[in-house]
Amino acid sequence: MDFSFDNSFQREMAGFYAPAEAASFPAPELLAFNHALAQRLGLDCGQADAEALARIFSGQQLAEGAAPLALAYAGHQFGHFSPQLGDGRALLLGEVVAPDGARFDIQLKGSGPTVFSRNGDGKAAIGPVLREYLVSEAMAALGVPTTRSLAAVATGARVLRERAHPGAVLTRVASSHIRVGTFQFFAAHFGAEHVVRLSEYSIRRHFPDLADAPNPHLALLDRVIDRQCDLVAHWLAVGFVHGVMNTDNVAISGEAIDYGPCAFIDRFAANSVFSSIDANGRYAYGRQPQIMHWNMARFAEALLPAIHAVAPEDVEAAKALVDAIPDRFAARWRDRMRAKLGLTQAEADDAALIDALFGAMEEHGVDFTLFFRALSALLRGERAPLESLLPRPDAMAGWLGDWQARLAREGDTPGVRAAMMDGVNPLYIPRNHRLEAALASAETGNLAPWLELLDVVRAPWAERAGWEEYARPAPPDFGPYMTFCGT
Ligand code: AMP
Ligand code: MG
Repeated sequence: MDFSFDNSFQREMAGFYAPAEAASFPAPELLAFNHALAQRLGLDCGQADAEALARIFSGQQLAEGAAPLALAYAGHQFGHFSPQLGDGRALLLGEVVAPDGARFDIQLKGSGPTVFSRNGDGKAAIGPVLREYLVSEAMAALGVPTTRSLAAVATGARVLRERAHPGAVLTRVASSHIRVGTFQFFAAHFGAEHVVRLSEYSIRRHFPDLADAPNPHLALLDRVIDRQCDLVAHWLAVGFVHGVMNTDNVAISGEAIDYGPCAFIDRFAANSVFSSIDANGRYAYGRQPQIMHWNMARFAEALLPAIHAVAPEDVEAAKALVDAIPDRFAARWRDRMRAKLGLTQAEADDAALIDALFGAMEEHGVDFTLFFRALSALLRGERAPLESLLPRPDAMAGWLGDWQARLAREGDTPGVRAAMMDGVNPLYIPRNHRLEAALASAETGNLAPWLELLDVVRAPWAERAGWEEYARPAPPDFGPYMTFCGT
């Protein structure tokens, strides 16, 4: 298999990583391989059979040109600074350049201990690996910027968590693995010169148009804030809860990364939390914009030495960028919500209409995903889908009247609007009860439900005959739903 690796981080960033090596595994077996993604990356897997892929994507056979590294990073975890994290159970195999010129990291996750493992075993269990694979692919299908999943390989070894599980390795593809925590690590331990180097590398790699800005580090802050506002607005718009928005889990590329205790909301509640370790709801659905703001303030702090080195007076400009995040986010959020509601023009009262909607959805406990599809059905003259979600048929009559009055002030026909809405409001998401059932089945050796769910979430928009069950909310006896970071 030919990756044609071109390892810029290894070449240009000596001192920012440590060499790493995969553990040896008794019986690697390919669980899934993402051929479409391999093609997008321009990987030539022509001759590679499942056995060869299993060896390569569990780190047992090193592809030509690979230079396995573990990256150093720090991070605020649940608000507390951990000065030393780093890739404790992952290694960067190398970088590939796709036919369109885009550069990607190929990373093995769960590949064994590294110098950053602290007390961890460096391994991953099959459940979290297949969860990350499926949810990241669902997010990609939804158009959310995200890391992707190229392969999942069972290792044949057991991994001990609260009990023993089959072990697995995930191959993750990211436009880079540089995190806010990467900046924090070098700011905390090394100071301005290293932060400048990391910032310059990040700009070359992700945002080359910023290289000529008067203060490129300030421009980087501005751009990363922009991407994070977009990302979190997109999460909220699809009902996604990341679950562990620590600064080490925030990629500066603006891709969603590190799918641990994540989940999609079913019955809407702004305080939804699915992570077993998030007892205080720090990373609840509705808190994600504030946490993103907080994380960007930490990013600004880490970048300050570099910003200051170019122009001391720009420190004030950095502060102003951070202070402006709530407004910037709110504008992105309103744009996304307008699209979900079939609105194309901005009006002054839109924020009030959106707030009222969320209040009503919460009051009536409606299914977040199905509600927006029910609105488009309503525009087509079908009331039944909406009524099936409400406790009584007229439960949201007030809000619906306001929305329809608002729609009437715009031009398109209801049919055109309904089609637009169905292009941004998914019908199929990784429903928690389906995902849990699929993972439980995979753990006992039957991958069929997981593979079928993967097919479904890769085609989230158009209704398909035979997939009716995948669009149904969880049965009433399911939940409260908890996911475990026990990755
Ligand atoms: P996460 O909660 O997955 O974002 O991981 C936080 C930190 O813990 C990172 O530095 C990981 O590399 C490290 N880590 C998580 N699980 C393990 C493990 N099983 N072995 C070693 N390090 C781990
Ligand atoms: Mg992480």
